[in-house]
Amino acid sequence: MDFRESEERQALREAVAALGAKYGVPYMREKTRAGEKTHELWAEAGQLGYLGVNIPTEHGGGGGGIGDLAAVCEELGAAGCPLLLMVVSPAICGSIISRYGTDDQRKRWLPPIADGSYTMVFAITEPDAGSNAHLIATTGRRDGSDWVLRGQKVFISGVDEAQSVLVVARTEDARTGKLKPALYVVPTDAPGVTYQQIEMEIASPEKQFQLFFDDVRLPADALVGDEDAGLLQLFAGLNPERIMAAAFALGIARLALDKAVDYAKTRTVFKQPIGAHQAIAHPLAQCKIELEQAKLMTQKAAWVYDSGDDMAAGEAANMAKYAAGEAAVRIVDQAVQTHGGNGLTAEYGVGGLLAAVRATRIAPVSREMILNFVAMHTLGLPKSY
Ligand SMILES: Cc1cc2nc3c(=O)[nH]c(=O)nc-3n(C[C@H](O)[C@H](O)[C@H](O)COP(=O)(O)OP(=O)(O)OC[C@H]3O[C@@H](n4cnc5c(N)ncnc54)[C@H](O)[C@@H]3O)c2cc1C
Repeated sequence: MDFRESEERQALREAVAALGAKYGVPYMREKTRAGEKTHELWAEAGQLGYLGVNIPTEHGGGGGGIGDLAAVCEELGAAGCPLLLMVVSPAICGSIISRYGTDDQRKRWLPPIADGSYTMVFAITEPDAGSNAHLIATTGRRDGSDWVLRGQKVFISGVDEAQSVLVVARTEDARTGKLKPALYVVPTDAPGVTYQQIEMEIASPEKQFQLFFDDVRLPADALVGDEDAGLLQLFAGLNPERIMAAAFALGIARLALDKAVDYAKTRTVFKQPIGAHQAIAHPLAQCKIELEQAKLMTQKAAWVYDSGDDMAAGEAANMAKYAAGEAAVRIVDQAVQTHGGNGLTAEYGVGGLLAAVRATRIAPVSREMILNFVAMHTLGLPKSY
């Protein structure tokens, strides 16, 4: 067993960190304040091959795994410029299309997803279903060789920046009962698609939307995979999503911890820097330990997923997302505390991380639903809901 990342992965981290340093916190702050998008960073990361590291080489990607993409996501976050849409476009959509798309679908969508010139977001959450995906009501109805899609989604990230959305629906024949997901690629400008921004408390250039499908006509090849393939093809995307959400949380946590440690070394209010007080030093040391634990679990989950063991990947990805979300929330909170009043000033940029990091406890799957999963599937306890 070797716990070190490969030399290639370490070199990738260094290169991405250098790109992140070029943009960093000031760029992100400026974009957020101006209500603008991070197009320059997205485009440069795409051109350098970082957004497509997990996509097969024959489709324009780097031929690596989700562990490589997670490393990119973490490094950009640690540099202060996290890209949430990496979690959806190359990770979820790229993984599902790579594994279940037809040759034509792979040729059409994977190369531009890999180089960042095409963004595909992902929509599963519905207002009346929430955490219970089995209640999803968005329905695809056959009409000749076409499909007609009807329904609505909520909290969908990045619709305004995307050319299309990979929508989790069900077919008319499977309208009720356990979810048999049918996945459709829906252009964001298709007739019948409308969306509305949700005002969130998270300060970020990337926004969330309500999305409505009012009898949206789609060609037969909008369907990715089998209309009746069950949950396996969906989890080919949801496990990478959880691993990426963990990496996203870890990146923000690293940024916050770095800032807190710097501050603790330099801020003096009594005789010594505040970091000399154990009340400041010990919580930061605990944060570092929890960060490393969560990172190890995330690396393991990525390794399991990349090795092709989907069942084991489900458990590991859930545990990684849980561990990273919990660690990140604690670390950002401790970073705010370490900064005293400056923890809540815009100048230090720590307080602003609270809402973003808090979301990693809720999305893409809440901590409670992960605990339900582990209680039932890992520990064999009875289902409570
Ligand atoms: C910033 C952000 C970005 C997002 N981006 C996307 C996106 O791009 N695409 C997308 O599809 N979705 C997205 N989501 C939605 C996200 O996945 C959901 O918010 C999440 O799955 C929880 O669903 P919900 O909000 O409906 O909460 P609910 O399901 O209503 O749950 C509310 C609370 O009840 C708890 N709860 C519910 N059932 C149980 C139970 N059986 N046992 C114990 N506790 C329970 C939950 O854990 C939670 O704490 C995003 C959300 C956020 C905040």
